[in-house]
Amino acid sequence: MSARVDVSRSIAPQAAGYDVAAVRAAFPILTRQVHGKPLTYLDSAASAQRPQCVIDAVNDYETRHHANVHRGVHALSQEATDLFEGARDTVRQFLNARSTREIVFVRGTTEAINLVAQSYGRPRLQPGDEILITGLEHHANIVPWQMLREQTGAKLVVAPIDRTGNVSIDAIDARLSDRTRLVAVTHVSNALGTVLPIRDIVRAAHARRVPVLVDGAQAVPHEDVDVQALGCDFYAFSSHKVYGPTGVGVLYGREELLTEMPPWQGGGDMILAVTFDKTTYNSLPYKFEAGTPNISGVVGLAAALRYVEALGRPQIRSHEHQLLDYATQRLLTIPGLTIIGTAPVKAAVISFTIDGIHPHDLGTILDAEGVAIRTGHHCAMPVMDFFELPATARASFGCYSDRSDVDRLLAALAAAQKVFA
Ligand code: PLP
Repeated sequence: MSARVDVSRSIAPQAAGYDVAAVRAAFPILTRQVHGKPLTYLDSAASAQRPQCVIDAVNDYETRHHANVHRGVHALSQEATDLFEGARDTVRQFLNARSTREIVFVRGTTEAINLVAQSYGRPRLQPGDEILITGLEHHANIVPWQMLREQTGAKLVVAPIDRTGNVSIDAIDARLSDRTRLVAVTHVSNALGTVLPIRDIVRAAHARRVPVLVDGAQAVPHEDVDVQALGCDFYAFSSHKVYGPTGVGVLYGREELLTEMPPWQGGGDMILAVTFDKTTYNSLPYKFEAGTPNISGVVGLAAALRYVEALGRPQIRSHEHQLLDYATQRLLTIPGLTIIGTAPVKAAVISFTIDGIHPHDLGTILDAEGVAIRTGHHCAMPVMDFFELPATARASFGCYSDRSDVDRLLAALAAAQKVFA
C-alpha cells in the first residue's frame, strides 16, 4: 500500500483564492508555542480548534444574555431563547433540513446514535431482526447497537472493509436482507478518512424500505452535507469537530420518524402537561430535549456553522483535498512509512505506521517538536484488527491547516527516525 513518488513534479499548487493565512489568523490557539516550538495542530479529527468568532459568540452569550431558555417571560430568558432557537434554524439551513422540528440538540454524535438506538430501535426490533453497519465504524456507531442487541435479540451485521479501507456499495447491498431494520453507517471514517457513498447506500436501503442513519461526525467539517440530497433518515454530528464548542451536537431526523418515536429521556422541557397519572409530551423537537440544554454550546455551534459557510464549504473542501494530496505524497517519500487507508475517495485524514517505531513513541517524540497528532486505535478497534495493527499514527487537517504543518510533520518524523535509527 505504500508507494514512492517524485514529489517535486507532481504536487498541485495550493488552492487559489483560499487565503489560508487569513483563516489561520482567525484561530488564536494556532499562535501558541508547545514545548518552545510553534504548535503544529494535526489532530482536528479528534477535536477541531475554535475561531475567534465562536469564542466571541460564547463569551457574548455568557456575558450579556444568559438565562434558562423556553421558560421565562423576562428579557434575558427571551434573549437566550431567541439565540437558542435561532441556532436551531442555522443548523437546519446548514443541513438543508425541511424543518427545525427535525433538528434535535444533543450532547454529540454519541448521544444522537444512542437516542436513535433506544427510541427508534428498541420499541421496534424483534429477535432475529438485523442492524447493518460497516467495518469502518467508530465505537459510537457499534456499541449502542450491541446494547440494543442485548435488549432486543436483534443481530448486528457488518459489511466488511477491503484492503484499501473502503466499503463498497456491493458489500452493503449484499448484506441487506428481509430482516434488516436499520442501516447505520459512517459518512467519513475517522480512522482512515474513507468517504462512503451515502446516496448509493440510502438508495439501496430504501429500495428495501430500510431507514438509514449516518454518523456524520467526520463529514460535517469536510463535506457538503445536505440531508435532503443524501436522502438519509437520521444524520448525527458533533459541534466540536466542526469548530464549535464541546458537549453539544445534533441529531437530524426525518419528521415522520421522529413523530412516531417515543421520548428517550424524561424531564423538564420535553412535556406539555404532567400529573401523577399521566404526562403529555411536548411537540418536536422538544420531546427529545429533556432538561436544560447546553445553551452557550448551541450558540457557539451556530457561530461555527456560520463561519464555515462564510469560508465556503466547496472552498474548504478543495483546500483540504490539495493538502491531503500534498501530505500523502510527501509522507510516501519517508522510508518505512505505510499509509493505512488508501480508498479512492478520502477526506483530510491520514493514518500511517513507520517500521520500527510504535505509534505511541512516535506521538511522544512529535509532541516534543510541537506537532500534535493522534496515536492509538482511534475508537475504531475493529479497523485496527482488520489491518492487524495495535495502533496507527493519524494526522488530520482542518480549514486552517497548511503546507507548513505538513512540512513540520515531515521534519519531526525525520527526527523520530533518527532517534530510532
Ligand atoms: N463517530 C465518528 C466517526 C467520530 O470520529 C467520533 C469522534 O471521534 C464520534 C462518532 C463520536 O463523537 P463524540 O465523541 O463527539 O460524540
